[in-house]
Amino acid sequence: MTIIEENLRDILKNAGNARLVAACKSQPQSAINEALALGITDFGENRLQEAQARWLDRPAGVRVHYIGEIQSRKVGAIVDLFDVIHTVDRVKLIPLLVKEMAEQRRHIPCFIQVNTGEEPQKGGVMPADLPAFYKACVEGGLQIIGLMCIPPADDSPAFHFGLLRVWARRLGLVYLSMGMSDDYEMAVRFGATHIRVGSGLFGARIGRKE
Ligand SMILES: *Cc1c(COP(=O)(O)O)cnc(C)c1O
Repeated sequence: MTIIEENLRDILKNAGNARLVAACKSQPQSAINEALALGITDFGENRLQEAQARWLDRPAGVRVHYIGEIQSRKVGAIVDLFDVIHTVDRVKLIPLLVKEMAEQRRHIPCFIQVNTGEEPQKGGVMPADLPAFYKACVEGGLQIIGLMCIPPADDSPAFHFGLLRVWARRLGLVYLSMGMSDDYEMAVRFGATHIRVGSGLFGARIGRKE
């Protein structure tokens, strides 16, 4: 068994019903090919160019998830390429996304990224702003299916997963994108429906760390 195969077996054993989104930033194509051959269908990408090179032409049944920060001027290309967006987090993105989806006739389900740790340097809607932001998305015509968070590196993730779950319930949202290599098992206990696992699947990332 290869390392990826072993890692995958462990992750699937612990993931319950959560969907594995393989976070592939900086992975070589050989690793992605191996993941595809092992039957992984969902891939997460942070960088648009890297993702375009990999996925513009992709096998049927493969879904590509955008998990990076959304730059306004790249909204058109993001809508063109991706099947799911996990990181909607600014009011000004709402009309841009809606317009592109209408023009391209691609209606892409989105998650709202929530800054559960209220970290100033990090993306995501502050929890206090979430009800108004959600309302703006719905009224703007964006299809919001759930919430996503990236807990602060130096904090216990359980609090953040619990908070995200509470907010999703309040808003009547079903999907929770939470949990990465180091904490996906805990995220699953808190009801994660989408876990985003990179290094714990592929082995250590090569190149620049995000
Ligand atoms: C890189 C990344 C992941 C995966 O992180 P690992 O620790 O490698 O599992 C998940 N979500 C986002 C948004 C990421 O950028």
